[in-house]
Amino acid sequence: MKRKLLGVLLLFGFCAFAQNSVSEKDFKSVEDKVVDWRRHFHENPELSNREFKTAETIAKHLKSLGIKVETGVAKTGVVGLLIGDNPGKVVALRADIDALPVTERNDLPFKSNVKSEFLGVETGVMHACGHDTHIAILMGVAEVLSKNTDKINGTIKFIFQPAEEGPPPGEEGGAALMIKEGVLTKPDVDAIFGLHIDSATPVGQISYKPGGTMAAVERFVVNVKGKQTHGSQPWGGVDPIYIASKIIDGYQSIISRESNLLVEPAVITVGKISAGVRFNIIPESAELIGTVRTLDPDMKELIIRRMTEMTKGIAETYGGSATIEFQNNTAITYNDEDLTAVMLPTLQKVAGKDQVNLVKATTGGEDFSYFQEVVPGVYFFLGGMTPGNTEAFPHHTPDFMIDDSGLLLGVKALTELSIDYLNK
Ligand SMILES: [Zn+2]
Ligand SMILES: [Zn+2]
Repeated sequence: MKRKLLGVLLLFGFCAFAQNSVSEKDFKSVEDKVVDWRRHFHENPELSNREFKTAETIAKHLKSLGIKVETGVAKTGVVGLLIGDNPGKVVALRADIDALPVTERNDLPFKSNVKSEFLGVETGVMHACGHDTHIAILMGVAEVLSKNTDKINGTIKFIFQPAEEGPPPGEEGGAALMIKEGVLTKPDVDAIFGLHIDSATPVGQISYKPGGTMAAVERFVVNVKGKQTHGSQPWGGVDPIYIASKIIDGYQSIISRESNLLVEPAVITVGKISAGVRFNIIPESAELIGTVRTLDPDMKELIIRRMTEMTKGIAETYGGSATIEFQNNTAITYNDEDLTAVMLPTLQKVAGKDQVNLVKATTGGEDFSYFQEVVPGVYFFLGGMTPGNTEAFPHHTPDFMIDDSGLLLGVKALTELSIDYLNK
């Protein structure tokens, strides 16, 4: 009897599930196109805030599907709006579209030979972070969903975002500018989903983490002021180089002695020191430039506050003075815990339960985080490593490579996340 009841429940469950899911045939119908698009974008990459042709191709595709399109959002961004047959909430899906000043090094038939200028230096241009796959996946999702509006209880907003890697100096751009221009309003977005391809995760797998999944990135600049003197007579001045070394030492104690590393990891790195002109002069000033990476809002607050206190306090202790300035590059990519829990079954449905892995956070940054500061969102990682490989080239390097046989899983994941979210 029990078994019979279970059978009925399973059958009922399966019917409800089958009704709301997109058919395998619809997914298969875009598989080759997604790979073709990806290879086209890979061969024709464009730098941040210069994604003109990329945006044109995206807009043309969305229009061909009958999707309402807005172009020129945050300079080169494209936003599409697909209204389902039934009323409901609004879900946004985001793909970043920019490439990097990296010269590609491989023999792929769709290798990029594009050259451009970046900060006055000639450079190759390459989709060395895999954003080409993100564009192609979201174009595929748009095509599938536009054929399945009967399954959409609400509205889907497609956000093709420029300049995730950061706009050129002196320019605005990226997620922050899109938000400023109102991309999360008219209609107001209730939740947002996004993915990043990962060169080190095997094709077919998805990885995720609730809470902080990618770090908040701050850039900081410290100016230490001393008093210039002869190198042989340090007592005649105040040595800013010595003070700078004490400050660096102090910063590391914030990580090792004051941060609760059981909550999340955190990093302070000084990446540049500039001071002095020759061996026998103690200079007037020193400059430190570095980065802070945090994954927990309270830890971020503590680290920034303590760095500020220490910079001033240590410099004064040694008779000098110092200031520190922070510039925020990305917020914490923070997966809303409740939303992640609700959507996890969808990821498991499309990939298979044993192919969805809970992973640790990374100390890299991602400007998807700015969307998540406004609306709840889930950001996850999609496998792009050829099955059987044990080693992968890192993102942002000339040898970086993605196996595009895994892209259809990305299409399925974003499609089903949208439909299931709007049904819940
Ligand atoms: Zn990147
Ligand atoms: Zn990226």
